[in-house]
Amino acid sequence: AKEQGKSRYARYAETMDTCAVEHARLGAELQRALTSDELFLLYQPVVTLPDGELSGVEALVRWRHPERGLVSPAEFIPVAERNGMIVQLGAQVLREACRQMADWRRRYGDAAPARIGVNVSARQLREPTFPQTVADVLTDTGLEPGDLLLEITETAVFDGGPALQAVRAVRELGVHVALDDFGTGHSSLGLLRTCPVDVLKVDKSFVDGVTGTAEQSAIATSLAQIARALRLRTVAEGVETEAQARRLYQLGYRLAQGFHFARPLPAEEIDDLLAVREAA
Ligand code: C2E
Ligand code: CA
Ligand code: CA
Ligand code: CA
Repeated sequence: AKEQGKSRYARYAETMDTCAVEHARLGAELQRALTSDELFLLYQPVVTLPDGELSGVEALVRWRHPERGLVSPAEFIPVAERNGMIVQLGAQVLREACRQMADWRRRYGDAAPARIGVNVSARQLREPTFPQTVADVLTDTGLEPGDLLLEITETAVFDGGPALQAVRAVRELGVHVALDDFGTGHSSLGLLRTCPVDVLKVDKSFVDGVTGTAEQSAIATSLAQIARALRLRTVAEGVETEAQARRLYQLGYRLAQGFHFARPLPAEEIDDLLAVREAA
């Protein structure tokens, strides 16, 4: 009854307040998480079409919070971006992913994943020290630059400047770069001329439409053609059904990622897949 008495604005302001307080609290707890073992990585397979064989993996961060349980990156990455903690968090993720990938390469050779994808946020990319951080991590972990794929968003590079310089610098090292969630950002197509990349990760929202009408599948169809013309690899993201996988293959997609093939998995489960492959 009391709630009803409040103006719409008062209720709105209250929600915003709770939001700000909640963000501040999450931020403080994240600071602690960075120096504890609460953050860890899962690895989602990227597979070849049509056979569904493991090609690469993407590292995805998770936070096992002592009271809240598993917190989604969709919740804490934006907080870390706002308070700047993403720079340290991102560097930790990069180091751990490269260490893991170097370990797989040493143990399994050619049967290891072809490369590991690591998400890099705009804020990280704009740090002047970013390319040096990547170079240092490669040296320290002994990972070949070509085994690393940095996943960035269009939004991070669309205005040129330091982020674009960073993309050029890491590619100069031999590291591969992917445009993530491709098609959902600012300037998609024009960007392909100014920002040299190796891979387009076609967003799930377009993959969802491939089994629908011509209109619904139009963007996924066009992106496959553009990518082929520009000699870019494409990965179809968020593939959830066999029908989608089949249709994507017909459209020319040769790499896919999604729950239909595999969820993000702990490193040990990737190990099991690699051991089987090595034995074959
Ligand atoms: P993303 O980079 O686009 O990663 C793919 C997300 O889609 C992952 O969510 C993955 O679990 C989910 N996914 C994969 N296949 C399917 C599917 O078939 N259906 C559906 N519905 N979802 C699928 P996750 O792990 O929750 O990560 C969400 C986002 O958080 C990532 O989106 C990425 O933007 C960000 N993120 C995750 N880890 C990191 C990180 O280490 N650094 C940074 N900067 N961002 C990260
Ligand atoms: Ca990604
Ligand atoms: Ca994505
Ligand atoms: Ca996404």
